Amino acid sequence: MGNQPLIVLSEDSQRTSGRDAQSMNITAGKAVAEAVRTTLGPKGMDKMLVDSMGDVVVTNDGVTILKEMEIEHPAANMVVEVAETQEDEVGDGTTSAVVVAGELLQKAEDLLEQDIHATTLAQGYRQAAEKAKEVLEDAAIEVDADDTEYLEKIAATAMTGKGAENAKDHLAQLVVNAVQSVADDDEIDTDNIKVEKVVGGTIDNSELVEGVIIDKERVHDNMPYFAEDADVALLDGALEIKETEIDAEVNVTDPDQLQQFLDQEEKQLREMVDSLVDVGADVVFVDGGIDDMAQHFLAQEGILAVRRAKSSDMDKLARATGATLVNSVDDITEDDLGFAGSVAQKDVGGDQRIFVEDVEEAKSVSLILRGGTEHVVDEVERAVEDSLGVVRVTLEDGKVLPGGGAPETKLALALRDYADSVGGREQLAVEAFADTLEVIPRTLAENAGLDPIDSLVDLRSKHDGGATTSGLDAYTGDIVDMEEDGVVEPLRVKTQAIESATEAAVMLLRIDDVIAAGELKGGSSDDDEDAGGPPAGGMGGMGGMGGMGGMGGAM
Ligand code: ADP
Ligand code: MG
Repeated sequence: MGNQPLIVLSEDSQRTSGRDAQSMNITAGKAVAEAVRTTLGPKGMDKMLVDSMGDVVVTNDGVTILKEMEIEHPAANMVVEVAETQEDEVGDGTTSAVVVAGELLQKAEDLLEQDIHATTLAQGYRQAAEKAKEVLEDAAIEVDADDTEYLEKIAATAMTGKGAENAKDHLAQLVVNAVQSVADDDEIDTDNIKVEKVVGGTIDNSELVEGVIIDKERVHDNMPYFAEDADVALLDGALEIKETEIDAEVNVTDPDQLQQFLDQEEKQLREMVDSLVDVGADVVFVDGGIDDMAQHFLAQEGILAVRRAKSSDMDKLARATGATLVNSVDDITEDDLGFAGSVAQKDVGGDQRIFVEDVEEAKSVSLILRGGTEHVVDEVERAVEDSLGVVRVTLEDGKVLPGGGAPETKLALALRDYADSVGGREQLAVEAFADTLEVIPRTLAENAGLDPIDSLVDLRSKHDGGATTSGLDAYTGDIVDMEEDGVVEPLRVKTQAIESATEAAVMLLRIDDVIAAGELKGGSSDDDEDAGGPPAGGMGGMGGMGGMGGMGGAM
């Protein structure tokens, strides 16, 4: 009896243990990094992603690529999470973070093969990451919150090599202006910057409106297009007569009765409009609908009304104009009204929108992004989002670093020195970490069509000589002072990337057993039959991974 093997897993489950598990996870993680590697830096290329519905996204943005790819392998997803954390925390540096994570796994694989234990590796990686953050903190350059010119350089660096490239100076000005406008002491909520995309015109036509733009038209043709020095009411309900809960049937026996009934409704609507007139509202935004009759009365009174405004827009309007949202017109008072110097319906790229401008406190602004086609505008938006993120982070922390591989080169040298002071086998892991970071300048060089070895050697020698802000100018191939060149990034972009990449790599390395309830999608290369898409490696080496099969099918 006691000799029967005990089966605890269901028949469908799949189990991979020991080195096989490690190697599977490392391969999956590396594949993710490989998928975005060619997009890194000013000369990085873009990717075209087609989803199962045939929708197309053309992008250079690491996190967008990985999200669109619908990666299913659990280990690969842990690396995707690195990009997502980076996106949430800083908005930029998603590709770098993933590329570093992939390289940490690659280097780990070599050490595992030399029989270095995964726990030792993990320990060494963690020590190296701590040291790296210290070195970066020490090297950081302080930036003043009013130094607009410097902030614009930071904003522009984040947009380099993206769809916004040729208008990046103009956009950088808008971005910095926008973030400065919504900054409330130390608190900066970029949600108060509304990005409106307009297809038509060129990226250079993009503009910043201090106020809110609502993607709606006035509800009635007889209403004014424009209200100057407007008192603004925000109504959280509707300007309609509530339908009764029960289906009531009204039997009218003569025309007078019907008239009475309609008169009653009209009177109620008239009273609603009168409440707005009494408090002196010139403009009203309504969350719900506006009855035809009420529209007519509002137009008669010369009130500009908008119906079905989005609740996020209502919040922005409240913040910008100082109005209070009221649930019912019956309760509205003068104090609930907000103010805007100008409320106007304008034409943007053939679309009518309501501009609420000249607000007392422009704590809410709108960025109108324009571009020739929808795909262009979408990619400009992603670049601008990154840029908004880096300016916010810089204002919060006040610290930046030169870009172009300068910090990574500096770290590699510092960590190799530090490795000597780390005893035991961890030393090898610290050295591997140092080598890992050089993947950034190496990839920048590769993507720019330069010889990566030459570039690395040049960089190292400049840094050795004490020029620690030297980086690779991806356009000329020269090693230049990145700070002078105006290529600067927030400190947090770098520290966060190192932190998340290390955490993910360490987590994956410590796993020696993968037990899946069903078949693992992706990962192994023998499920090619159902991939049905491009051959393995066709998309940055992601062949055979789940999700990619679907993409292939749609093409
Ligand atoms: P990420 O998603 O990691 O931000 P990017 O494609 O935006 O990826 O590339 C960022 C890298 O490009 C950073 O290492 C940054 O320092 C570098 N970079 C940006 N502008 C320049 C430039 N003009 N010259 C060289 N490197 C640059
Ligand atoms: Mg970037």
